[in-house]
Amino acid sequence: MSEHKRDFLPSLVGSMSEGAAGNPTVEMVEAAFRHHDLHYRYVNMEVASNRLPDAIKGARALGFKGFNCSIPHKVAVIPHLDGLGESAAIMGAVNCVVKRDDRFIGENTDGKGFLESLKSVISPEGQHIVLLGAGGAARAIAVELALAGAGKISVINRSPDRGKELCQLINDQLEVVSSYTPWEKSYKITPDTDVLVNATSIGLYDGTAPLAIDLETLNPSTIVADVIFNPAETWLIRNARRIGCTALDGLGMIVNQGITSVAYWTGLRPDQSIMRNAVEKALRLE
Ligand code: NDP
Repeated sequence: MSEHKRDFLPSLVGSMSEGAAGNPTVEMVEAAFRHHDLHYRYVNMEVASNRLPDAIKGARALGFKGFNCSIPHKVAVIPHLDGLGESAAIMGAVNCVVKRDDRFIGENTDGKGFLESLKSVISPEGQHIVLLGAGGAARAIAVELALAGAGKISVINRSPDRGKELCQLINDQLEVVSSYTPWEKSYKITPDTDVLVNATSIGLYDGTAPLAIDLETLNPSTIVADVIFNPAETWLIRNARRIGCTALDGLGMIVNQGITSVAYWTGLRPDQSIMRNAVEKALRLE
C-alpha cells in the first residue's frame, strides 16, 4: 500500500453469510485490492438470519461500499435494500449489494460470472442452452443468458416443480423460449444443443460423481460448462475434454463473479489472472 494511503481508513466491503464463510472469495478479492493498490478491505461477517436487518443497518452506518451475501440471505436481504438491478429483480435473489449514490442496490453476479466465462469462448446470442438443474445457480444463469440474447433454454431437472417454475419465469419475463424436461434415467443430449451446463450441486467435493447423462450423445462441437469449482475438474469436465468438447470449469464463473463485484464496488475492473491464482491457491489447486 502506498505511504499516503495509510492516513485514512480503508473502504469496506464484505460477505454476510450464516455459519463459517469457508469460501475462496475473500482471498480472491483481497488479492485484487492488493494488486491494484486499492485502499479497500473485504471482511467475512457471520450473520444469523434474525440479525440480518441489524447487520445491514450496521453496514450502512459503517460506510460499507457494499457486500456479498450467501444462502440463506440472498432473498431475505431484498426488503432491506433501496433498489435492485435488472437481473436480480427478475431472479428475486441478490448476492452482491453495491452502494450507488448512497443507496444500497442489490445485484446478482452469479449469472454474470457465468456469462463472462462463456463469452470467453462463444457469444450466447441465439444459442440453444441446455441447463441441468433448476436451483439458484441455474436460475441466475438462465436469466442472465436470456438477457444476453440466448436463443432457447431447455431446463432438465429432477424435481418437476422447480424445473417448471424456472421455465415459467423465463417464458413470462424474458424474450426467450424455455421448456422443461424431467430428468429421468440417463438424459440423452439433443443434437441441437450448443451449450450444456451442469448447474446442479452434483460433483461438489467429489470429482468422480457422475451425472445421469448419456455421454454417447455428447457431440464434440457442444460447449460444456460446470458450475462446480471444487474440484475444478469434475466428472463432466473430464469427460467433455476426452470427447473433444470445449470445457469451462466453475472457476471461470467464480472468478468472473469476483471481477464483477470488485468492478461494482471500486469502479476498476481487476486483473483476471491475479484473482484466478488466488482462488486456486485458496482451494489448493495450483
Ligand atoms: P440449489 O440447492 O438451489 O440447487 C441444486 C440443484 O441441484 C437443483 O436443481 C437440484 O435438483 C439439483 N440436484 C442436487 N442433487 C441432485 C441429484 N442427486 N440428482 C439430480 N439433481 C440434483 O443449489 P444452487 O443452485 O445454489 O448451487 C448449485 C451448485 O452451484 C452448488 O454446488 C454451488 O457450489 C455451485 N455454485 C457455483 C458458483 C460459481 O461461481 N462457480 C456460484 C453459485 C453456485 P432438485 O430441484 O430436483 O432438488
